[in-house]
Amino acid sequence: MTMQGKTAIVTGSNSGIGLGVARELARAGADVVLNSFTNRDEDHALAAEIAAEFGVKARYIAADMSKGDQCRQLIEDAGGCDVLVNNAGIQHVAPIDEFPVEKWDAIIAINMNSAFHTTAAALPHMRKRGWGRVINIASAHGLTASPFKSAYVAAKHGVVGMTKTVALETAEEPITCNAICPGYVLTPLVEAQIPDTMEKYNMGRDEVIKKVMLERQPSREFATVEHLGGTVCFLASDAAAQITGTTISVDGGWTAL
Ligand code: NAD
Repeated sequence: MTMQGKTAIVTGSNSGIGLGVARELARAGADVVLNSFTNRDEDHALAAEIAAEFGVKARYIAADMSKGDQCRQLIEDAGGCDVLVNNAGIQHVAPIDEFPVEKWDAIIAINMNSAFHTTAAALPHMRKRGWGRVINIASAHGLTASPFKSAYVAAKHGVVGMTKTVALETAEEPITCNAICPGYVLTPLVEAQIPDTMEKYNMGRDEVIKKVMLERQPSREFATVEHLGGTVCFLASDAAAQITGTTISVDGGWTAL
């Protein structure tokens, strides 16, 4: 499977799944554009490391995915792309009647609206190139719910709905749009939920991981960023040319329950 000559933009990719996905795309030969809202030396260094390790072009472009104009500008600054991976995301956990409005707005903007803006900006470039893949990193929470995650669940269900719509709008073109729905992956986003959960359930770290987090993941194992990267590479491959408008769960059986 070679992605040589293809350019992939991965939003929110200086950490976690996004970085893992960018690395796997680069391993497959794609030139990659990394992104986050920060503009630190270490962000640019990540891109340089990927370029050196895999012999591809890699660069980092700072853009805040909570701002529609910056989402669109990212695509233009990158000169368009063949593969767009909408991955940027944040989490906040609270009962809906106590959910901070600014957290609700930020989650909807970053986890859902950003995919609207980037996709709208990227499609004309894909059409010019005559090929394209839009791959949205949704979540098991795009298909099911958990208490206290109203904004996240709403945003991820929204992304799954948008995925189907974009697939229908591009169905007669050599462009596909799909969503990947990961279960728990041990990244900084999940790591940040552990202390509160330990306090809430009065449990130690290992107990929280096994009994609370992985309780819904029948494999009792975290998915890895490499699993997610491999799934993105598959969806970007020619073998997946007729896969569009669907979700692929990478969740150790969570949504089979
Ligand atoms: P993470 O916190 O490690 O990574 C999130 C990335 O998004 C980071 O690179 C961060 O810099 C970036 N980001 C945050 N706000 C941004 C903004 N305003 N503009 C640009 N970039 C921004 O988290 P992760 O676990 O790797 O999550 C990545 C995606 O995977 C998210 O959409 C998340 O919802 C989804 N996901 C994660 C899990 C999991 O268990 N980790 C499960 C299902 C879905």
